[in-house]
Amino acid sequence: MPRASVSRAKRLITFDDGYADNHAHARPIMERLGVHGIFYISAGYIGSGREFWWDELERLLLLNNALPRTLLLEHHGVPGLNLDDADAGAMRPHCDALLLALRALHAKREELLSELRGLVHSTNARATALPMSESELKAFAASPAVTIGAHTLLHCCSLRRPTSRGAAPRDHRVEETAQRDARHGVERFAYPFGTLDDFNEESIRVCKEAGFRHAAANRPGLVHKASPSFAFPRVLVRDWTAEEMADHLRPYQL
Ligand SMILES: [Zn+2]
Repeated sequence: MPRASVSRAKRLITFDDGYADNHAHARPIMERLGVHGIFYISAGYIGSGREFWWDELERLLLLNNALPRTLLLEHHGVPGLNLDDADAGAMRPHCDALLLALRALHAKREELLSELRGLVHSTNARATALPMSESELKAFAASPAVTIGAHTLLHCCSLRRPTSRGAAPRDHRVEETAQRDARHGVERFAYPFGTLDDFNEESIRVCKEAGFRHAAANRPGLVHKASPSFAFPRVLVRDWTAEEMADHLRPYQL
């Protein structure tokens, strides 16, 4: 879930997902500084008024004072949670395990989230975790600071590496979405999550056949002439202070 990263070759800033704060906060700063960026958008969330699924899961499980004693979600292939002895800190590894499981269970993700919403008392979606509205995206895309890239429809990590249970099935929705984005002139793509476990040769083939010019991964490194254009590295940026970010970027001598 990288939200922002910096690569050296083009001094390029990239943002993933399509958060509303990209438009409200990042864009004006970048326009003022004359900095350009690529923003990889998960188009299915635009205008939904819903948090991205990982943010919703975090809100339901980690920011919730009214969890039931037990959560049973076994039939989704994820472990049930017995919360009798759990405190807020103990929920973190459970949430992390679910985040990982849902990356692979993308087809059932909405089903599980819907069930979870019914099982736990839910507060409202956080404004800080919302994607852009359609009108925000339209205004955003018109900025000279912005190039729009694709990031799948619903942030599905569907083309994972083969596992002991065999290769992940081919996902035609991902291919159709990629082809549609490319037809609409979107030339750039970022793999959801983007680690080496989240894309493979099949992913690269789909991107190339759809007509994308490049695809961004999520692994640290500098971009150079020999970098693979369909898996180029990016330096992940967390929610750091300016000083922390400077420390992290110092080794790259930007
Ligand atoms: Zn993402």
